[in-house]
Amino acid sequence: MLENVQKIDHIGIAVTSIAEAAKFWENTLGLKITATEEVAEQKVITAFIPCGDSEVELLQATAEDSPIAKFIESKGCGIQHIAFRVDDIEAALAELKAQGIRLIDEKPRRGAGGAQIAFLHPKATGGVLLELCQR
Ligand code: ZN
Repeated sequence: MLENVQKIDHIGIAVTSIAEAAKFWENTLGLKITATEEVAEQKVITAFIPCGDSEVELLQATAEDSPIAKFIESKGCGIQHIAFRVDDIEAALAELKAQGIRLIDEKPRRGAGGAQIAFLHPKATGGVLLELCQR
């Protein structure tokens, strides 16, 4: 069992246009995009919107073969993943692997904002794409 899951770090939402989506998040909900960043290896632009102790991450594809483009093509825009903050992602992945949990990333990779991230396979989590995130 994991012993270092701290909180929901962010909820990842797939959008076709961050500029379009920002109208709702900023003008309607009154929240603020504080950081926008292209993550080239995942072919996405991310925009983080803090809200209290957690954040919303808007994800826009930069290429047709981006995981976000594929997600929108099959499921439409909406919640794409939920990220949990851990303090030791290597230890968490080792523990999950020992339990035979199916992982998309066996090793952490770099996410937006310099975070270390790794995804668990939705088949192992009851249908939710889960991200572990160490900041
Ligand atoms: Zn994320």
